[in-house]
Amino acid sequence: MRILITGGAGFIGSHVAERLLKEGQEVAILDDLNEYYDPRLKEQNLAIVQRSGNAAVYRGDIRDAALVGRAFEEFRPEAVVHLAARAGVRPSLEQAVLYTEVNCAGTVLLLEAAKRAGTRKFVLASSSSVYGVTERVPFQEDDPDLRPISPYAGTKLASEKLAYVYAHLYGMQLVCLRFFTVYGPRQRPDLAIRKFIQLVEEGGEIPIFGDGTMGRDYTYVSDTVDGIRAAVSLECSFEVFNLGNSSPVTLNEMVAEIEKATGKRAKLKRMEVPAGDVPITYADLRKSESMLGYRPKVRFGEGIRRTVEWYRQWKIESEDSAADIWALADQCGQSAASVPVR
Ligand code: NAD
Repeated sequence: MRILITGGAGFIGSHVAERLLKEGQEVAILDDLNEYYDPRLKEQNLAIVQRSGNAAVYRGDIRDAALVGRAFEEFRPEAVVHLAARAGVRPSLEQAVLYTEVNCAGTVLLLEAAKRAGTRKFVLASSSSVYGVTERVPFQEDDPDLRPISPYAGTKLASEKLAYVYAHLYGMQLVCLRFFTVYGPRQRPDLAIRKFIQLVEEGGEIPIFGDGTMGRDYTYVSDTVDGIRAAVSLECSFEVFNLGNSSPVTLNEMVAEIEKATGKRAKLKRMEVPAGDVPITYADLRKSESMLGYRPKVRFGEGIRRTVEWYRQWKIESEDSAADIWALADQCGQSAASVPVR
């Protein structure tokens, strides 16, 4: 099968690309390797992907109609896995327009290109953040009262609705996957687990929001990839699925697991809960189990152990540039102009 992965140089996308190439599928990646975090990390991801096979790379913005048109014309994808997005809740509060342009208008541009090219299958990355603040746990896909509380979450819910339009009007097969905090090797540097592992390893202070009881349904990346892979093969018109772990872990428990895996004590710094952050995410997996055969396999402690192991190896391999890369990671989500791109 020919599969176009947008955002394939990113964290989740590079794992998806590796998996599909190893299976022997034909893969093309469309990614602008933007400065949301250090593009050199994305170059590293692409280099790792290319070890598993030959992926065509279209480097540019999903909002560039000419580039997107060329990718569809040359590669003629049979399926699209659309992961490219401005991700991250907190920066979206400062950059709501940019998030909307990329995550909503960019998605529509891709859907249009897929429609024109006759590419019927389209898998879209959504997020647990669409559930917002709710007492109704675990979160069920058919919850009729979703109340996102950040621009990022709003754009993800809007892109699901836009996807529905293309299933309804043009008979395309749309699968929206609500990912629940994905972690593992090559995790985005703005996300807590990767940041915290580095801080514990280097003796820095970990920011603990509120009393540390905030819960997240962390999902190890290979489990997320299993769900994406199943979605590519699903025959349907329009479906939404949770891809989580159905086992929320508090911030305090997460830090304890990192201490166990690193063998080091964490220094804690108490902070206010940032605006836009929800108190808990918790996936109901009954639908994804029954329709996608999705069953997360990696327990949290094991996932953290593997991530620490990867981080230590990555640190050694990136010895020369690591300090620099981390300095840039701290600036994640600031305006593009203020982040140097090399
Ligand atoms: P990531 O930032 O590592 O990957 C996204 C990739 O998309 C990057 O390589 C980036 O360069 C690319 N991209 C962004 N804007 C682009 C544009 N305009 N044109 C072309 N390429 C562009 O993020 P990730 O964590 O791998 O997330 C992948 C997807 O999953 C995103 O849609 C994100 O919103 C969603 N998601 C992730 C998580 C998580 O925990 N990581 C949770 C919920 C949803």
